[in-house]
Amino acid sequence: MAIIQNVENLHSDKTIEDKVISLIDQLSATENSTEKDLLYILNNISKKSALHLYKTAREKSALYYEDRVYMRALIEFTNYCKQGCNYCGIRAFNSNVDRYRLSKEEILDCCKEGYELGYKTFVMQGGEDNFFSDEMIADIIKTIKETYPDCAITLSFGEKPKESYQKYFDAGCDRYLLRHETASKELYEHLHPKPMSFENRMKCLNDLKDIGFQVGAGYMVGSPRQTNEDLVKDLLFLKEFQPHMCGIGPYVCHSDTPFKGERTATVEETRVMVALTRLLCPKALLPAATAMGTVDPVGREKALKSGANVVMPKVTPRSVRAKYELYADMICVDDEASHCRSCIEGRINMAGYQVDLQRGDHVDCEVE
Ligand code: SAH
Repeated sequence: MAIIQNVENLHSDKTIEDKVISLIDQLSATENSTEKDLLYILNNISKKSALHLYKTAREKSALYYEDRVYMRALIEFTNYCKQGCNYCGIRAFNSNVDRYRLSKEEILDCCKEGYELGYKTFVMQGGEDNFFSDEMIADIIKTIKETYPDCAITLSFGEKPKESYQKYFDAGCDRYLLRHETASKELYEHLHPKPMSFENRMKCLNDLKDIGFQVGAGYMVGSPRQTNEDLVKDLLFLKEFQPHMCGIGPYVCHSDTPFKGERTATVEETRVMVALTRLLCPKALLPAATAMGTVDPVGREKALKSGANVVMPKVTPRSVRAKYELYADMICVDDEASHCRSCIEGRINMAGYQVDLQRGDHVDCEVE
């Protein structure tokens, strides 16, 4: 049974609804839950109990971050990728992709523009592109940190050996995003062909934590074959791992992948997962994923109203944006960085929150 069948169900049973609401309250009070209770929530959530969940998650977020929403400037620096993730539009085997990679100078230009727009975190994200050696990445990180010492750098560059992660960290990289994608080994293997493995993904996440990065995990909601039981595994994994950041977005079908024709997830089912993640990881930084804005014009606002507290506007050069197409109908591909900056601020304010232009570290990792 998928969450959506319930969250959009108007005719809910009052006793079941009351039980779901009391489980949500209990979860919020203890910041913990059992596998059985989480599954009960997912299997029985209704429109009314979902609204209660969103509000509770929002209040939890406010405990640590008030009404602040942090901004991250996203630089999509390469769409070359050696991996074959079955859901991803820039997978190695998609010959329809027009491949690009930015030079160091182009990346620095993105940072300059981003800095002028007020951003204090740069997120460098790319496919797993071996053209960039560890030394090249370390050199880019060093130069950005020398030029903008008041800024944080987040890298999102896939699976690497621990020694490579260590080099990025030593060069000054502060944070690393590597979504775990799913905490179910079986589903992981359905989503990722060999040689990728669940064990290596988990090893990478543990290595990143050991090294001292602020680490971002995360997962897609509604990916092909995912069940509510799988989603409960995600929640329990996150409760245990306590990532500093957690990216949660809807799976959006891309037709140039083996998952062509699969169902795209909805904003409501994703919101349920954002909110539950907030209750289990109260201090985490949770982005309102761009994919939320693809499945619903006000999807990112809805994520903010369900416990998210970060947005990641793009500063990728407009000339290449459309080429970084992870999923269909990605938004913001035609906009200038300055447009994204004011658009997103307007959306945050309209939703009732305040833009915070500080570095926005995890509350337990604040610098100075
Ligand atoms: N190579 C990096 C960056 C991957 S792209 C890495 O491996 O971490 C960033 C995220 O986009 C992925 O982690 C994945 O969760 C998400 N993504 C990719 N394809 C998607 C799709 N079709 N729908 C929704 N999200 C997708």
